[in-house]
Amino acid sequence: MLGILKHRRRARIAAQPFPEAWVDILSRNFRLYRRLPAPDRLELHGKTLVFLAEKDFEACGGLVMSDEIRVTIAAQACLLLLHRKTDYYPGLSSVLVYPRAFLVDDRQVLEPDLVREGGEDVRRGESWSRGNVILSWEDVLAGGRGFNVVLHEFAHQLDTEDGDVDGAPWLGERGQASRWAAVLGEHYRELRETVARRRSTLLDEYAATSPAEFFAVATEVFFEKALRLRREHPDLYQELARYYNQDPAGWY
Ligand SMILES: [Zn+2]
Repeated sequence: MLGILKHRRRARIAAQPFPEAWVDILSRNFRLYRRLPAPDRLELHGKTLVFLAEKDFEACGGLVMSDEIRVTIAAQACLLLLHRKTDYYPGLSSVLVYPRAFLVDDRQVLEPDLVREGGEDVRRGESWSRGNVILSWEDVLAGGRGFNVVLHEFAHQLDTEDGDVDGAPWLGERGQASRWAAVLGEHYRELRETVARRRSTLLDEYAATSPAEFFAVATEVFFEKALRLRREHPDLYQELARYYNQDPAGWY
């Protein structure tokens, strides 16, 4: 019964008009939005409205929260949910946004996506298993040129849905899980070897840190460099296309 009510409430919210000003925001700040086929764009609008209705956004470090920030982040998070039955990141309650890369207390951190700047470990994003994603707004805006911190952190959220943060989100039927493990595992090992030999790689070498980072970085590349990924690693592309039920290389 609860499920039906939730479903109805979401359907009602998703059917509300999507403000024209928000279309402008997405056209400006979300490069992939302009490539989306029209039906996908409509679905994305509905899912974004639901996400905004259900999740809190908190301004941190002096940031002033705005519709621009909320809509830009929500829509990119919802790109990962298109064409699928979804419970809208059920473990997530708040998105915390800092103006730029941030320093935070280490103790509670599940997935610190570290970047070193000026000799210090600073973060452009984090995903916690208990309720939070943290993002640097400056880095959100800088995305779309091969990397995308929002897609990265929300891929971690999908990864936590089945309990473990291990690079394998919930995959449904068993055949898919074993194929996933084989294909992603092989590419992960290959990437680690290539990085160890100091050769350049399509996936950022940060993906060689752990299977969880591999999945998050592969998700960024799947959407942001779809054509190259399909050309250079067709089996990895296919596996991600099956999981996301999308074909971003077809948007070009
Ligand atoms: Zn990560």
